[in-house]
Amino acid sequence: MSGTGGHGEVGGAGDVTLFHTSQLDELINLARQNSLWYLLFGLACCGIELIQTGGPRADVMRFGAIPRASPRQADFMIVAGTLTYKMALRAKLLYDQMSEPKYVISMGSCANCGGLFQLAYSVCDGVDKVIPVDVYVPGCPPRPEALTEGLVKLQEKIQQEKWLVRKTEPVGVRA
Ligand code: SF4
Repeated sequence: MSGTGGHGEVGGAGDVTLFHTSQLDELINLARQNSLWYLLFGLACCGIELIQTGGPRADVMRFGAIPRASPRQADFMIVAGTLTYKMALRAKLLYDQMSEPKYVISMGSCANCGGLFQLAYSVCDGVDKVIPVDVYVPGCPPRPEALTEGLVKLQEKIQQEKWLVRKTEPVGVRA
């Protein structure tokens, strides 16, 4: 059998496996990117915009994303708001309870870097200090459209994933 897969020319018997894996990757990624369940982790004012993103005007469900109150079944977590050290421990716990593959969107300046409160004794200057972040959405607060674009960026990242190689560099969203 010969043909051309996502990894270039396919020739030998060993390459047939590569060809099929590439096609399977695309199929699995297509299903996963359009059925993302998100764990809400609203911590401050950004949480209101997060709620609004799930409302009828922004309607993030158009992209196949629905909220899930349990980390056990969630595909990704949206951290929205000011993360104190006290809550950082909870964020880490919830992240650890999520099953792989799992992703994180950091929403707003406070979650990205501490924002207005980054010099406060009690504030963690970025959720990426405790858990890995896949997409950063800037703003104070980001509008629902910005968070929606963050979701689309996450979908694009999932679309590119290859078998056994998941984690890539985090991506950003335009301000
Ligand atoms: S980034 Fe701005 S809107 Fe969001 S939690 Fe911080 S202060 Fe509030």
